[in-house]
Amino acid sequence: MTAERLDHFMARANAIYYSTHDPFADFTTSPEISQVFGELIGAWAAYNWQHLGRPDPVLLVEAGPGRGTLMADVLRAARSVMPAFATALRVHLIETSARLRAAQAARVPMATWHDSLDSVPTGPMILLANEFLDALPIRQFVRRAGGWTERFVLDGAWLERPADRTAVPAERRAAVGQVVEVNEAARAFVGAVAERVRRDRGVGLLVDYGPERSAAGVSLQAIAQARPVDPLSPPGTADLTAHVDFADLALVARAAGASVQGPVTQGAFLAELGLFKRTEVLARERPVKQAAALRDGALRLAEPRAMGELFNVMVVAFAGCPALPGMPGVPDGIS
Ligand code: SAH
Repeated sequence: MTAERLDHFMARANAIYYSTHDPFADFTTSPEISQVFGELIGAWAAYNWQHLGRPDPVLLVEAGPGRGTLMADVLRAARSVMPAFATALRVHLIETSARLRAAQAARVPMATWHDSLDSVPTGPMILLANEFLDALPIRQFVRRAGGWTERFVLDGAWLERPADRTAVPAERRAAVGQVVEVNEAARAFVGAVAERVRRDRGVGLLVDYGPERSAAGVSLQAIAQARPVDPLSPPGTADLTAHVDFADLALVARAAGASVQGPVTQGAFLAELGLFKRTEVLARERPVKQAAALRDGALRLAEPRAMGELFNVMVVAFAGCPALPGMPGVPDGIS
């Protein structure tokens, strides 16, 4: 066996995991917790379509759509709040797992599938990604007294090798002994989204867990059978994720000529879009048990102790895009 760079190991492990497991047996996500999550994002997308000048057709792209629940909820809301948007949109899903593509096809049969953003047609676009970037492979670098090293994997154990200096972005700082994580795949994806929205006009909504500011430290984690396990468990037996570094991705998007709004916490974003009001409207029409589940779901999405603060929402948009719903009033600052 030869030593494998961590990002290569993680990419291989997740490709096996997502093609052989039902990830939702191991973890749940916001669209699976409450239909209101997708409905609010559907209304948000419809607003943005108007804002973009009602382009027809418009690309509605989702990266890492899981079971297709978010897109199904978005489409239902779009049909109800703005039928003209529902008619103009063309759904494109970026998904590598054949198993999950089949689940998505059951809910969103009119979609076109892609392995990556590269093959998605160009044009005005509204892109959504919920818990997509956290699944992309990271590299880990360790600050040693003598310089940076990089972490490799060999036979289920860690190995350190001297790092290629240029692989660690200059602004990333760490004390001796600390680890810095770099998500080159997320940077490339966000850079490509930024390039597209700048050129063809559009907006990208990135929702994920991770801090607003870059921080040193290990965030890589593995979940199998709903429990944390060793990230170096046999490839494909666990879901590997890492915190998304929103500050780093904001730099990438701005460097590509796009504007950035947020990040704001998921709790603040959803509350601003009307999470609790919409939940109450639905709950009043439902039997007691379902109503309680809806209210409970809203709290899970928004409460700081649940997903409300750990998750952040950031928008990448064309240059000069005014502040969008749920985002801070000043469009171009992350402070
Ligand atoms: N957005 C969904 C699912 C999140 S799980 C939800 O919120 O429920 C991560 C999703 O990203 C899965 O659909 C997985 O198959 C997909 N994925 C992971 N790595 C990918 C990659 N490199 N390219 C495309 N899709 C990927």
